[in-house]
Amino acid sequence: MKIKVCKWKNNAKSPVMFMVDDLANVWVDLSGNGKIDRGEDWGYAKYEENSSITFLEEEILNQFPDVKVNFYVPVGKRIGMVRDSDIYMYSNPINENKSTIEFFRSLNNDSRYELSYHGLTHGEVYNKPEDQKQEWECYSSLNEALETIDAGKAIFREVTGEYPKGGKYCGYTKGKYGDESIDKSNFLWWNRNLNYINVKKYCGDDDNKITNFDIKIFGENNVIDIPSTLGGDIFNTKSSSRIKTVVKRILKFYMEIKGKKEIDFLLKNNLVISIQEHISPARDDGKVQTPNIFDDKESLIKIFKYLKDKNVWYCTGTELAKYVSVRDKIKIVKKNNNSFAFSEIDFNDRKNHEISVKIDLKCDKIMQPNKVIVSSVNNIFNLEIMEGNYKILGD
Ligand SMILES: [Zn+2]
Repeated sequence: MKIKVCKWKNNAKSPVMFMVDDLANVWVDLSGNGKIDRGEDWGYAKYEENSSITFLEEEILNQFPDVKVNFYVPVGKRIGMVRDSDIYMYSNPINENKSTIEFFRSLNNDSRYELSYHGLTHGEVYNKPEDQKQEWECYSSLNEALETIDAGKAIFREVTGEYPKGGKYCGYTKGKYGDESIDKSNFLWWNRNLNYINVKKYCGDDDNKITNFDIKIFGENNVIDIPSTLGGDIFNTKSSSRIKTVVKRILKFYMEIKGKKEIDFLLKNNLVISIQEHISPARDDGKVQTPNIFDDKESLIKIFKYLKDKNVWYCTGTELAKYVSVRDKIKIVKKNNNSFAFSEIDFNDRKNHEISVKIDLKCDKIMQPNKVIVSSVNNIFNLEIMEGNYKILGD
């Protein structure tokens, strides 16, 4: 009898994470009409008219009930792109008032969603957008980083009832104290690298670059580093209206082949498919924030349709990190021909954690130490982690 721990839950080829950045208590009044227009909202509008969450749910997610979303939330008063803009931007912390708190909390309580940490202010602004500094670049000491993260985590907890388990550097910029500050702030996981540009570049090669796109561990507390591996805009064929229809068709055809090649590369190499997006295109310097869910709606739908018949695992960052933290440690000890146990893992620490195992034996049921019987799907068992013997049951 051979038992193998699966790389991903359900023995999936790839986990799929949908990452939507910069959900915040922000609204950019691009049109200047004093009303929230479609695309201007970053989260301030909650579920009211023209809110971006409503757009995301109604136009994209409702067709794909298995898809899960991580929202990256700057918890304080988020900066704009420039210091004195003519474009009005409303920005306040996510604990501003009761209804705002309730909105963010309800998202975090939704099993399809997870809120994750994305800084207190996102950084500092100057007169020119290109001078903007990302939050982790602004810290002048480790202590300053830790204190700011603590303050941000406190707001996050006040709103959601719990501390954030993971997050992402603003602008994927870690600065001098980034990794150490995350390691010392009790995060289970973090997104350190924007890798989707590299996936685009290397997805034709079958060389050793593959490990660059896999999950990594860093710091003394083994923080799990989940890279971003796919742009939500891969199938986007926005082009000038002056281009002839026939050229547009060729472009579309080409984009389709390229986009599928990127996804196939990740699936084939059992890498994470983590799709990068932003909640809103609106910026107070008048430029378009890319990639964003509005411009990429059709591309995102195409991605999720393409994944529909693939063996993937839709998960949040925390679900993924929990699985990896168990997978990398756990050992299977065979007791006899029809029983085994887990070892090298702290069982008290792993309550409600699951691991998927594959058994090369004709059997369809396993009895856990707590007497609960688990059935297999294609010889894969999702077992709760606990101390004691797991029994393989005969026909
Ligand atoms: Zn951001």
